[in-house]
Amino acid sequence: IVSRDSHPQGSVIKVRGIPIGGEQIQVISGPCSIETQDQMNVAADAVAAAGCRMMRGGAFKPRTSPYAFQGLGVEGLEYFQRAAERHKLPIVTELMDVRMLDTFMEYDVDVIQIGARNMQNFDLLKEVGRVNKPIILKRGLSATVNEWLMAAEYIAAGGNHNIIFCERGIRTFETAYRNVLDVTAIPVLKRETHLPVIVDPSHAGGKAWMVPALAQAAVAAGADGLLVEMHPNPCDAWCDADQALTPDELKSLMVTLGAIAKAV
Ligand code: PEP
Ligand code: MN
Repeated sequence: IVSRDSHPQGSVIKVRGIPIGGEQIQVISGPCSIETQDQMNVAADAVAAAGCRMMRGGAFKPRTSPYAFQGLGVEGLEYFQRAAERHKLPIVTELMDVRMLDTFMEYDVDVIQIGARNMQNFDLLKEVGRVNKPIILKRGLSATVNEWLMAAEYIAAGGNHNIIFCERGIRTFETAYRNVLDVTAIPVLKRETHLPVIVDPSHAGGKAWMVPALAQAAVAAGADGLLVEMHPNPCDAWCDADQALTPDELKSLMVTLGAIAKAV
């Protein structure tokens, strides 16, 4: 179903009328984690002011340590909804557990993110395949392109064809940065599948200063959009502080991207 052969012209996925996979690139931005109502309000203002049309934020966080902040859960979804609605920004948030799917539907999450660590959680993939919501499917930490395509096929097989691939860097021998952004995967996926491909330069590099270079490389290579972490005050972020852009840095990035693609 996800193969390019079935739709040679490529698919555009609409999120509350906003196209992903068309002429224009879409930049989804927001904090790694939802922290407080105030933090989300300021973040939503910054996302809208930069010209981004969708917002991200995690309420359920897949953390390496069980003692690290795990996300606010349902309370976080409430903050997120309230903040994003002020600017009519569709919301993107990660689903880790099938038992929360009904709650995500109740809160009218616009795009469900399947995180890198769950790319091959086949039961989760089957469940989101049964709903009628766009899914961002992040690439697994060490997943091959073929494994990633087959993970998407699990979702599509259930009837949900609204799938957006997200390259977020892969594990290699390199330790100088968080992950290696696999730019090569972008044209390969665009050739293999009709579905949109976006890139997360934040989790790829792991440092805010790397984000503009990686974002530009991704767009130049044909990415349909970006998922970028931004925090009103990165130093105080509860999660992924090093890689969060400031609101001003997000604004500058949007200007830079505007020179190589239709970004706003
Ligand atoms: C995230 O986007 O917040 C996240 C946890 O990303 P990944 O699953 O790519 O590590
Ligand atoms: Mn993060």
